Parts: sequence; structure tokens; C-alpha cells
Amino acid sequence: MVGAGFAGLYALHKLRAQGLSVRVLEAAPEVGGTWYYNRYPGARCDVESVDYCYSFSDELQQEWNWTEKYATQAEILRYLKWVADKLDLRRDIVFNTRVVSAVLDESRLRWTVTTGAGEVLTARFCVMATGALSAALTPDFPGFAEFTGEIYHTAHWPHDPVDFTGKQVAVIGTGSSGIQSIPIIAEQAAHLYVFQRTANFSVPAGNTPLSTAELDEIKANYAERRRLSWRSGGGSPHITAPRPTLEFDPQERRAAFEKRWQLGGVLYSKTFPDQMTDLAANEEARKFYEEKVRAVIEDPALADLLIPTDHPIGTKRICTDSNYFQTFNRPNVSLVSVRATPIESVDATGINTTEAHYDLDAIVLATGFDAMTGALTQIDIIGRDGKTLRDDWAHGPRTYLGLGIDGFPNLFVISGPGAPAVLANMVLHAEAHVNWIADAIAYLDDNGYAAMEPTHDAVDRWGAELARRADESLFTKAESWYMGANVPGKPRVFMLFIGGFAAYNDICADVATAGYKGFVLLKGPAASGRQTAETGCDAE
Ligand code: FAD
Ligand code: NAP
Repeated sequence: MVGAGFAGLYALHKLRAQGLSVRVLEAAPEVGGTWYYNRYPGARCDVESVDYCYSFSDELQQEWNWTEKYATQAEILRYLKWVADKLDLRRDIVFNTRVVSAVLDESRLRWTVTTGAGEVLTARFCVMATGALSAALTPDFPGFAEFTGEIYHTAHWPHDPVDFTGKQVAVIGTGSSGIQSIPIIAEQAAHLYVFQRTANFSVPAGNTPLSTAELDEIKANYAERRRLSWRSGGGSPHITAPRPTLEFDPQERRAAFEKRWQLGGVLYSKTFPDQMTDLAANEEARKFYEEKVRAVIEDPALADLLIPTDHPIGTKRICTDSNYFQTFNRPNVSLVSVRATPIESVDATGINTTEAHYDLDAIVLATGFDAMTGALTQIDIIGRDGKTLRDDWAHGPRTYLGLGIDGFPNLFVISGPGAPAVLANMVLHAEAHVNWIADAIAYLDDNGYAAMEPTHDAVDRWGAELARRADESLFTKAESWYMGANVPGKPRVFMLFIGGFAAYNDICADVATAGYKGFVLLKGPAASGRQTAETGCDAE
């Protein structure tokens, strides 16, 4: 197994409990994944803390006390370390170990995994818990290497505190990471220049401390909270309005938007059920949003630049902020529209746009990730007939259910392309994937199979289904990282299942109930050490 974030830790616990011998290889020196690396100022979850944590153990739920509605990176990392210790996970994790290749031995149906240090392991199953947002993206600005000041990336933030006091600082990027860090950096810097290419929708978090009474109530009702989350579209317990946007009268509609606004953050995109499919409905949400945001920005011309006009609201992940737009009212903060005046180069002293030179002490890259596929395609994954995953995905990721790939038997992907993944609460999403994979492995063992692999046809059909659903939505109207649009040269394919978390889990469960329909189950030498005569396609 590769990766020791939320997904890898639960997978280790679950599969070990099932009697499997599991070894986790993790590039970082510690558990946590996202929450180990992304320690920039202001980093928090945007799904409520009490939902953004494991549901598989009531003991864990009851014992851990979240202190804020949206936990900080430090608190989430503390939680993951606590889970790792409590479940005694560390003894099966090899840290500081990057996997560079995974090669299928077709005759033995085994994976040979090689690390950066040249160690070689063989495994019957290879589970990739490598993260949807773990391959950071650093733009290739001409002259960047010449810059003599400090350079930071939000996704590789140093462990020691960074102090911007008295400094001229640039933040490049206004996605969730930029939007969370900008207000805090602005409080320290002598001057902060925010380099914005595309304006983003951001809704205030409304973050507050969680009182003991609130926590007690949540803990007393956790079972129901989780039940609702598992049946929801996004893996949290908040329910969308029962009817389409325009079926409500204007006053009711406003009240519903206001309620969601007060709830805070990303859930604003799910106020009404048709918000992401009907442009007229989406426009109602956008108008309410614009009114709210204009009210807090003092300079209307600046508001024009900060309010998106190029994509429907929610088609890129709505950011969750604390005082983001108010930050632009500060005299020490300037917005530089990279759209109007692109960055041409970086030199020893700062950034050059087509219009000006910005003298800087520090540059913060909040430039995002090669999302969904980056961590996987960085590994030389070689399946049947010597085919690499990189080549297989040259025109966009191909998976069945997001879980398996034809030509790569017994290779499972957690929270990757083809699943709802980043459109859902990713902790529950990881649990759903791990549970499915664990059941599938048990099924193979119970029935004397060595391996499973989706058929080419099942993968094609799943890809078509993803595309059909995406085309019926507004999601394809944005140049988003969901579409691969943020990485130069990456194929433009909508990479996620947008049908909702519960609906997706139902589909996966149906596939399993039907004897893993769409998968070929293979008999061979590796089934629980049993030697079987048959090799090849046995059933579909
Ligand atoms: P990760 O946490 O990314 O872990 C993957 C691990 O695999 C990493 O530790 C990495 O080092 C390791 N790895 C990768 N490749 C290799 C290799 N070749 N060899 C060895 N090790 C490797 N989601 C939400 O649902 N709610 C949120 O509020 C939320 N907030 C987020 C905030 C930030 C700043 C970011 C970047 C993402 C956020 N996400 C959020 C998404 C987040 O990535 C997931 O919620 C979750 O943490 C992913 O867990 P994971 O285990 O799947 O992957
Ligand atoms: P992101 O959303 O991809 O944002 C990257 C930003 O950098 C965008 O504004 C992008 O502009 C800009 N950018 C990239 N390359 C650039 C270049 N060459 N020149 C100028 N600007 C450039 O990345 P992110 O902010 O790290 O967030 C990624 C995802 O991680 C989020 O969507 C979310 O799922 C998760 N996340 C969640 C939270 C949270 O609130 N819990 C916090 C951080 C991250 P364009 O838009 O024009 O490409």
C-alpha cells in the first residue's frame, strides 16, 4: 500500500484486521498526508471537523474532542497521529520511502514495488492511497531560479514558523490555499501583493470554537449524523432544499441561501438540488453571492476584479475563508490581475508582469496540484503487456468505479479519478473505498480467486457514464482542476463522478452484490497461497 494519509491509515487498519499482511510505504517522515504537508498559515478543513474524521469507530468519535467548527491543519494532524498510535499503525508503515515503480509480474499475478532507495517488495495487492491532491504544482516562470528571496509552496510549507513581518510578499494563486493564507499573511507583511489569475468564489467559514455542550450534543447524536452523511450527496449531514430553486418564491429562496451562507463555506453550492445543473438556478445563487461579497469590499472596482464572471458558482470548488475579501480593504494589500497583466518573468529581486516590477522579499506559491492523477502518474506503474498507467491515461484517466483499471489486476486506487472523491467529504469517501476493497479481497479469498481486474468494456462504459453525467451538469463550463485545466498539456476530461456520494456507493455495492460485475475474477497461483490450475478469465 502506498500513502499514510486518511485513506492509507484506515486501509492499513481494516486490511490488517482482516488477517492480511500489510506494508505501507510513505514518502513523508510522518503520517497525515495532506495534513502533514499543507501547514501554511490559515490551513483548515472546509468540511466541519466533526464530520471530517473517521466514522468507522465510535470509540474514536467519542474520545476525540474537536475544538473548532473547522479544525486547523495542526489539530487534524494531531488527530491522525493519535489515531495511528491508538490503532498501533506505525509498526506497519515505512516512512521516508517513496515508491517509484510498481510492475506487474503477469505469470505470478504479483506486483513488484520499488522504492527510491532501491528496495524491492512484492505484493499480491497494490493499494494506491496516494492522494488526489498530493502532487504540488510549481509554475515554470522564466527566471524563477534567479530569485534570491524566500520561496514557499503552500503544499510544502516549512515546519518552523515563517515570519513575514516587515516583508514585501507576493502570493501567487487564489484557490482555497491562497484564500485561506492571504488574510493571515496580510496581517504580518509590510506589503502583500496578491497575484490573481482567476477570481474565485469564496464563502465565509463562520468558524467558531466548539463548546463542550455542542460537542456533547453532536456525540450523543453521532449515529444519526453519520447515517445522514452516508446517505447524502456530499458525505456530510446537510440536506439540500426539497425542490428546484425557481419553485420557491423569492423570499423563501433568499432565506434558504442565507441559511446556507450562515452554515458557511463549500456547502453553499448545494442549497438547491438544481444549482449545479440549471444555469438559471445557478444564477440565483450567484446573484445572492455577489450581493454578499460586494457588501464587504470597499472599492467597487476591486470588487469587479474579485468576483468571478467566467464560470458558474460551484463549478470550481467554492473556497472557505475567514475575512478574505475584507483583506483587500487593507492599505498594505494590492491585487495584481495576472489575467490583465501576466507574469512575464521572475528575477533576483522579484516578479515582472507585462506592466510592472514587484520588489519582493518572499514569494508564496499557492498554485495548487496536478490533481487526481499526478501522484499516480509520477509512479512507473506497469501492468499487462508492459503497458504503463501513464500511457493508458494519456487521453485522460480510465477506471472502473474509480477503483480498478483494466490491465492492472489487483491494483486498487483510493479516492482517485472516476469516483466522487474531492466532491465528497473525503474521510467518509476513503472509508467507503477501503470497505469496498476489503470486501472484494475477502470475496476473492473466500472463492479461491487470485485476482480481479475490470474488463476493458466496463472501464469504457464507466468513462462514458462519467462524461454523460458531467455533460448534463454545469461542471464542464469551468476551466477547473476537476477538468485538468490547471496543468499545461493535461487532457481536458472531467475526472469525477458527479452523481453524489450515496448514489455512487449504491452503484459500488450493486457491483459487489452481483459478484463483482464488470470485473474478471482470475484463478491463479496467488489465491491465499493456494495453487490452482486455472489461469485466465473465469467469470465476469
Ligand atoms: P493524502 O492525504 O494526500 O495522502 C497521500 C499520501 O501518499 C501522502 O502522505 C503522500 O506523501 C503519499 N504518497 C504519494 N505518492 C507517494 C509515493 N509515490 N510513494 C510514497 N508515498 C506517496 N477534503 C475534504 O473532504 N475536506 C476538507 O476540508 C479538505 N481540506 C483540504 C485542505 C487542503 C489544504 C488540501 C490540500 C486538501 C484538502 N482536502 C479536503 C482533500 C484532502 O486531500 C483529503 O481530504 C484527504 O486528506 C486525502 O487523504 P488521502 O489519504 O487520500 O491522501
Ligand atoms: P487551486 O484551487 O488549483 O488554486 C491554484 C491557484 O493558483 C489558482 O488561483 C490558479 O489560477 C493559480 N495559478 C496556478 N498556476 C498559476 C500561474 N502559472 N500563474 C498564476 N496563477 C496560477 O489549488 P489550491 O488552492 O491549493 O486548492 C486545491 C484544492 O485543495 C481545493 O480546491 C480544495 O479541494 C483543496 N483545499 C481545500 C482547502 C480547505 O479549505 N479545506 C484548502 C486548500 C485546498 P487559475 O484558477 O487561473 O488556474
